[in-house]
Amino acid sequence: MTAMSATLPLIDSTSAAAPARTKRGILDVPTAELRAWLAERGQAPMRVNQIRRQVLANRAVTFEEMSDLPKPLRADLADSFDVFSTRVERHLSASDDTHKLVLRLADGGMIESVLIQDEGRATACVSTQIGCGMGCVFCASGLNGVVRNLTAGEIVEQLVRLRNLTDPNSTNPDRASRLTHIVVMGMGEPLANLDNLLEALAVAGDKNGLGIGARHITISTVGLPAKMHKLAETGKQYHLAVSLHAPTDELRTRIVPTNDKTGLDAILAAADAFFEKTGRQVTYEYVVLGGLNDHPGHAKQLAGLLAGRKAHVNLIPWNDVDGLPYRRPQDGDIQTLIDTLRRAGISVKVRKRKGSEIDAACGQLRRRAETETNHRDTEAQRRPEKTSS
Ligand code: SAH
Repeated sequence: MTAMSATLPLIDSTSAAAPARTKRGILDVPTAELRAWLAERGQAPMRVNQIRRQVLANRAVTFEEMSDLPKPLRADLADSFDVFSTRVERHLSASDDTHKLVLRLADGGMIESVLIQDEGRATACVSTQIGCGMGCVFCASGLNGVVRNLTAGEIVEQLVRLRNLTDPNSTNPDRASRLTHIVVMGMGEPLANLDNLLEALAVAGDKNGLGIGARHITISTVGLPAKMHKLAETGKQYHLAVSLHAPTDELRTRIVPTNDKTGLDAILAAADAFFEKTGRQVTYEYVVLGGLNDHPGHAKQLAGLLAGRKAHVNLIPWNDVDGLPYRRPQDGDIQTLIDTLRRAGISVKVRKRKGSEIDAACGQLRRRAETETNHRDTEAQRRPEKTSS
């Protein structure tokens, strides 16, 4: 995600680091395996759904509190599994009720997930990979490449953890009592992990799961044409956002290196096919990098590229990333982009910033958490007397 600024007070409610996980998270245990595990204990297959419903719908965070399960079974489950496979490495919240979590996965990797609450919506922004392999030059997530795809369970778990931060008894019309929307705009390239993502979104969409319909789910992609076609073929009503960032192949390849292999034509053709198949209007994201892709000439080229398409453009002023040599655009240049696109009949918005103070752009908080952890480890090595027991 891409929100920031530095005005509101910031609460860090990170608790002391828990020990590393040795057990698997229950959401990652395949149905057949869990059924077999239950059968060995003389338990009916319907327990699988009961257990999942407890986590997904009832907000259970321990097996002990799953009161519709027999007590010995709860104890057995707790011996064999964890409810969550991740632990919260950092939890930052802002005064506008935005929450940002850095989650530590069972294998030590870290990801970011964000909850944005506004106007009765509660939107979860989730990651799909540890790191990212796309290498967009302005983005913090890909600075160290990709480590691996997240499992479907790890994606669902982000949603559940964020949902658990909403207030189930909310009477405030601005604050939803559950998750209402999902944007797959955290770390990673969602379409590079499409199968696991679709599995996770199926759980999110299930009425016994999180009950979030496809029309409330946005998948953001760097633009992988073959996978965009595959997504269209599912016929699901997901909202597709394509990270365009430049109106010509020459400039786009400088900003988004994967463009070298794909090219704008194939991406736009795949986006058109998605629209034809699903009837869902595609959003084009355009990170505005001061002096690089925000000249009046770029605005005209972009308008020309999208003219005639039923497209929407989201302009995202670049969020600073420590150590990267780009700059935020000037207001006047953003305005020229807006005016030029509108004159060409293209709908355009500048992305609102939420969560202000807790950000730094996507992937940055994880980098900081990693640096701090490395620092802590180095400190511990320097003081061996404190680590030996
Ligand atoms: N891999 C997917 C999801 C990435 S995150 C994709 O490329 O779409 C979602 C959006 O945030 C993308 O459009 C991405 O380009 C943008 N983004 C990443 N880092 C940013 C930054 N520092 N400032 C502004 N937008 C950024």
